[in-house]
Amino acid sequence: KPVVAIVGRPNVGKSTLFNRLVGNRVAIVEDEPGITRDRLYRDAEWAGRVFTLVDTGGLDFAESGDIPRQVRRQVELAIEEADVILFLVDARAGLTSTDEDTAALLRRTRKPVLLVANKVEDFQRPGQLAEFYRLGLGEPIPVSAAQGMNTGDLLDRLVSVLPPETGEEEEADTIRIAVIGRPNVGKSSLVNAILGEERVIVSEIPGTTRDAIDTWFEREGQRYILVDTAGIRRKSRIEEAVEKYSVIRSFKAVDRCEVALVVLDALEGVTDQDKRIAGYAHEQGKASVLVVNKWDLVDKDSHTHQRFTELIRRELAFMTYAPVVFVSALTRKRISRLLEMVNLVAQQQCLRISTSDLNRLIRDAVLRNPPPAAKNKRLKIFYATQGGVKPPTFILFVNDPELMHFSYLRYLENQLRAAFGFEGTPIRFILRQRD
Ligand code: GDP
Repeated sequence: KPVVAIVGRPNVGKSTLFNRLVGNRVAIVEDEPGITRDRLYRDAEWAGRVFTLVDTGGLDFAESGDIPRQVRRQVELAIEEADVILFLVDARAGLTSTDEDTAALLRRTRKPVLLVANKVEDFQRPGQLAEFYRLGLGEPIPVSAAQGMNTGDLLDRLVSVLPPETGEEEEADTIRIAVIGRPNVGKSSLVNAILGEERVIVSEIPGTTRDAIDTWFEREGQRYILVDTAGIRRKSRIEEAVEKYSVIRSFKAVDRCEVALVVLDALEGVTDQDKRIAGYAHEQGKASVLVVNKWDLVDKDSHTHQRFTELIRRELAFMTYAPVVFVSALTRKRISRLLEMVNLVAQQQCLRISTSDLNRLIRDAVLRNPPPAAKNKRLKIFYATQGGVKPPTFILFVNDPELMHFSYLRYLENQLRAAFGFEGTPIRFILRQRD
């Protein structure tokens, strides 16, 4: 879904416009300039297009109280995250220097910016808006957010500059799964066990590449696509030795999936090839479930699960976030548990943490364990924001990215996981310098 951000200095009416555009009152509106509010996300629809509206107003930045700086940060966030920016100015108050500074920042982005003049009372006399042309952002669109005047025209303009639809929309709630692993770990058997489950509806669909075949299925109202099942489902019909589902093929399937099922062989433990395959899913930012197959062949005592899990945690130390499920494709043991895990990690990779929760967590983490320092300079984290999902990506605005240590990022990651979960998904950090 395209993201539309509303930016502008305090009191121009961002929250009022936000509420007007999403059609119900969700933001807290106060007349006090610079009040503390969280950024709000809300889906809105107009002319058949759905988009996510973001109210960046009143972000709580403890570091600086001055308004131009706050607006500046809002704009940076908007430029970072949004597909379209609504720049709101106050027609009653007229043009201010903060507006001019904001416009200067916005002119540098290649994203569409719509200049919106709020608090217009007389739509017959647009002359009062003339001074806003000076911002170099085109014709101001007059609205009255409070009265809902002309907001339909604004939405028409907005929809006309949204990026074209990708067709991903209908698939948004479909989870794309890649079943990956070395030859003989049991991928085909696992796929057949999943598709052979009761209550599963199955159909084949062409994949994006010529010889790839994806399999679509639905279970308990959730839709899934098994990516590139050509090599694995048809195997019995083809010469086995020739058509071994190759590791390269696994990699390609990972690129097109959201959740990777990394299949391991219970009798063989974790091999170097397993590490490479799992590592690829990790590096690509995919959610993963570690599937220990052929569990029926293992002589079990009460510690077997634990011992195998410890082995996995040690050998695949880079993805301790991934849940481990012990299955048997042969006896179909815990296949439904496996699908529950797929649902969980697919949901976790889309988690969004509010900017206020995130910054509170970072602040506490920094207090408990100060960031690294070098040459009499200590790393300062000014603020953080979540830049995206799949995988969850956090942007840290810092005084000097060079001062960051891998171990400190690991610490922050652990804090985030302890507070919010993120089971099964990698987490990424992006460092941005600010002075
Ligand atoms: P792939 O190359 O990863 O697709 O592996 P296959 O699905 O072809 O399985 C390789 C071999 O392991 C076959 O002989 C399967 O019958 C056997 N196998 C697969 N899963 C299980 C399981 O859960 N238990 C047992 N005992 N054998 C399995």
